[in-house]
Amino acid sequence: MQCRCCMFEVENGKASCPVCGFPTLGGISPEKQSIIEEYRTNKLKNISIDILAYRYSINGSGGITEPISEYIKLADALSLTYGEVLWIDSKFESFEANRSIVIDISICKGDVRKECRVDLASGEPVDCGGLGIYLDKGFTIEFAVGNENNYHLTESISLLGI
Ligand SMILES: [Zn+2]
Repeated sequence: MQCRCCMFEVENGKASCPVCGFPTLGGISPEKQSIIEEYRTNKLKNISIDILAYRYSINGSGGITEPISEYIKLADALSLTYGEVLWIDSKFESFEANRSIVIDISICKGDVRKECRVDLASGEPVDCGGLGIYLDKGFTIEFAVGNENNYHLTESISLLGI
C-alpha cells in the first residue's frame, strides 16, 4: 500500500511508513485530511535545497581570481508538490546535458547540511538545459534537466535524515 503522506510503497502489514512514520492503518475521514498535511509540513519545514555556486572575478592585473563558492537556495522543500517538477528561475548559465556536468547540492535544515554531488548528464541527452526539482515517493527528490516538454531525471536524494 502507498503511504498517504510521502507516497512511499509500504509493505503490506506494516503499521507505519518506514520512511516518514505516518500510520498506514485505519481510515482517515475527509475532515481529518488536514492531519496528513500537518504531518507533511512538520517533516519538510525548514528544509531547503541549495546549490554550491562559484563566482569568479577579474583581479587588478587582468587575471581571474580564485573562485568564491557559496550556497544559493534553489527551493524550500515545502514548495515542492509530489509528482511535479518545480522549474528553477535560473541565475546560472544553462546546463548542457550532453556535457558532463556535476553540481554540488546541499539539503539544509537549520545549520545542518547534507552535501551530495549530482551528475546532471546521466540520462538521455536533452537539447536545452533548464534545471528543475521533482518530488518523488518517500520524500526523495530528483533533478530535472531540460525543459517542461523534454527532460531527464537524475539519481534521487532523500530530503530526510539530516
Ligand atoms: Zn511515508
